[in-house]
Parts: sequence; structure tokens; C-alpha cells
Amino acid sequence: MRKILSCALLGALILPLAAVTGCKKASDERSKYEMQLEYFPEERRLAANMRVTVPNETENAFEELKFQLWANAYREGAKYAPVSELYAPAAYYDGKSYGGITVNNVDGCEKFSVTGEDENILSVTLGAPLYPDESVTLDVSFEVTLAKINHRLGEGKNAVNLAHYYPVLCYCPDGSFREYVYAASGDPFVSECADYDVTLTVPEDYTVISAGKPECVAQNGKKTYHVITENVRDSAFVLGKNFQNAKTTAGGVEVEYYYVSDSKPELALGVAADSLAYFDKSFGDYPLSTYTVVQTDFPYGGMEFAGLSMISLDLREAEIPTVVAHETAHQWWYALVGSNQFESSWQDEGLAEFSTALFFGAHEKYGGTYAQFIEASERSYRAFFSVYSQINGSQNTAMNRPLTSFTGDYEYRNIAYDKGVILFSRLKSVVGDGKFFEGLKRYAARYGGKIATESDLASCFSSANAEGLIRSFTEGLCVI
Ligand SMILES: [Zn+2]
Repeated sequence: MRKILSCALLGALILPLAAVTGCKKASDERSKYEMQLEYFPEERRLAANMRVTVPNETENAFEELKFQLWANAYREGAKYAPVSELYAPAAYYDGKSYGGITVNNVDGCEKFSVTGEDENILSVTLGAPLYPDESVTLDVSFEVTLAKINHRLGEGKNAVNLAHYYPVLCYCPDGSFREYVYAASGDPFVSECADYDVTLTVPEDYTVISAGKPECVAQNGKKTYHVITENVRDSAFVLGKNFQNAKTTAGGVEVEYYYVSDSKPELALGVAADSLAYFDKSFGDYPLSTYTVVQTDFPYGGMEFAGLSMISLDLREAEIPTVVAHETAHQWWYALVGSNQFESSWQDEGLAEFSTALFFGAHEKYGGTYAQFIEASERSYRAFFSVYSQINGSQNTAMNRPLTSFTGDYEYRNIAYDKGVILFSRLKSVVGDGKFFEGLKRYAARYGGKIATESDLASCFSSANAEGLIRSFTEGLCVI
């Protein structure tokens, strides 16, 4: 996600399809989500049948599986709201509105229930233990009601965003499922790469925008889109009635920009193509054959998904290059190389933001230089540190901490983004450009399709200084 803070804040049709494929890991080692979805606008309701096949790649036997229900953060009474009080008035454009997810049935198990600290987990008790190297298939029927909200999941003022709409297998790094609540600041999503085969039916006056190359069949006043994406970190769609589009290519990748209102669409499209090509050259191959940017209702700057970036309809022209480059960088630092976004948000956000600085350094026509970008982050961070130290007497500048521990968007932005940029700029200076870019290429190659830790990242730079430097930042020990 790319959050822009204003100055004031300082105060059922299966078609033969070519699959779009991500990276590595054999397909039988990945979960597979097959979904038939239909959206009913009058009711703001998504009806869904999902067949999920989960292989056990751990050394433990499972008697229970757990899935994140991020859609439940939108329900009335949720403990963890999906947007902060600061952004709520802009997000809830028509006053308070609620949504949520109802799991109607799970076949293929002994029982299921909605659990977790904030009704955020689907717990499924299996009929028999799932042993290592075995897999289990569950048929889940669920419904999502959309809040009227300009956000990742909701009926926005101009378009419908469908992200994190389905139960997603919980991150399970060491044989135990992690349960994450929603967080208003940051992206509280941790998910493994999986294969997706999704059909989505909508009224015929809607257009569906997604990653990959969806096929569309119109019938009986409805349109059904079918898209297959393999080895990707998520499934997301934007639905709308008034989209125009512009397209180009970048190094053989089809780049498309869908927009509702943009008098200069060539800008966002140009940045998307230029940044994709630049990051491809700098970090390693972009893993998909298509990349789509869509302008939609969103309270922050933009939001990344595998092969798909949302950018806000509210962006000013001057903000577009930064937001589009940042979201495009997430195609490497999120979609390809995953990290724990709930507990170490700097790892993808700091690196995506720093990658944006690198992009500006190589493309000064977009109105900035590398040095200006780094200086702006340093200025912002120092101002934040000064203000917060005076208020609190001291300031916790540790970077590895849960999203829910941040006091708000201002602290989150300065720790995860600005301090993240400073971290990577110092690392680049210390190890030198050669080892720095080699390190990032190694990081993408070694951890593509996986979820990397801080020490995984540090291990990619052939320098004895890298680990200590990164740790001095993440533990809040260094003075900036
Ligand atoms: Zn971001």
C-alpha cells in the first residue's frame, strides 16, 4: 500500500485458458482455490462456492485448519476497524455502513466454526488427521456483504473492490497457524502463494478487472469472467461500469491501465510500464505475463495485489508517479517475495518505497531525484522523531512490531516507510551498489514464492555488515 498523508495530518463457465504463472514451488506443494462467485449489486452481496485443496507441507499432522476471514473486519461491532478514524469520513462516503462474511457450510470436514479474537478466523476440524505430504479438499460455501466504503473490499462510490473476500489459509511457518486481526494502519495480510481458478458472474453492464487474462462470456443479461492465476499471493477484482483503458507493453509484459476519470492516462500507464521494466532489470524477472493498474475508490494512495494494483481516484497528477511506481515495486516486494506484513511491515513497504526512490533516480523526467527522495524521507522521519520524543519523553523506533501497536497512520508511515527508506539507503551506501543490487536480485530469486524473514533478507547481501546494520534499524538502536 502507498499511503499519502496530507500536510494537515502532521497534525459458472469454465473456459480453456492459458494460465498466468508466478514463480517456483511445484503445484502439488501449493494450495489451490477454485471459486464460483456471483455479485448481486442490489444487495451488495457476493455469493461464493469455494473448493480449496490444502497440501500439508509441514512435518506435523493437522487435525484442524485455520483460515483468515479478513472480510469480517467490515462487520458491525468489529473490534478492529478497517480504517482509522482519520480516514473513516473519506472512506465511508455515505455514512456508516457495514458488511461481513457468512460461512454457510464447509463440506469435507467434521465441523467448522468462526473463531479468533475478532471473529476473524474460520476453524475447520478435519474428519481425520492430515499427515505430511497428504492433502485435503474442502468445499466452502460463503457470502460476503459489502459495506458502502471506498476501501479494499466494498462498494465504492464509483466501483466495487473485491479483495480479501474469501477465507485464506492462515500463515503457518512452523506447523502452527498464525491468526492476525485487521489493522487500520498498514496491510494486515500474510498469505502464501497459491493457485487460483475463479469464475465471477456480474450483471452485463459491469466490467471486471483482474490480474491475468480473464475470459468473458455474456449470457442472459449477465457476464461471466474466468481467470486462472498460478503461484500468486492473492485473488482480487475491481468491478465497474464506466472504465476506459489504455495499454502498452514492457519487455514482453502486457501493461494495462483502467480508469474512470483521468485526463492524462498516459502518465499512469507510462510509469507502470517504465517502472515494471526498470524493476525487472534491477531485481529480476517479473513473473507474470500481464500487469494491470486500475483507478478505483480507495482512501489511501494505492494498494497492491499479485499482477494488479489499485490506485486512488483522488490522486493528484503530481502524486501518480510515486504511487504507481511504489505499487509496481510491490510486485517484487509482496507479490513475488512475501514477508510478514503484520509483524515486519517495513520489509515490503520500506523496500517498495526505496525501490521508488531508485526508479526516480533513473527516470528524472517524473519529477524527482534519488537524493531528493531520500532527503524527504529523512526530513519526515526526523520531524516525526522530534515531535513524538517531545510528547512521549522517548520514542519507540523499533520496526518489527505488530501493526496494531502503532498509534496511528503518522507513526506507521514514518517507521515502516520513511525509516525503511533510510535503512535501505544506508545499506546501499555501506555495501556498495554492486553488492546491493546483487543482494536484491538474490533476495527475489531465493525467496520468490515464499515468505522471507529479516535474516533471510540480510543473508542475501554478501557483506558482514548487512545483518548488523539492518538489525540496528529494526531494533530501534541506531540514531538517525
Ligand atoms: Zn506499499
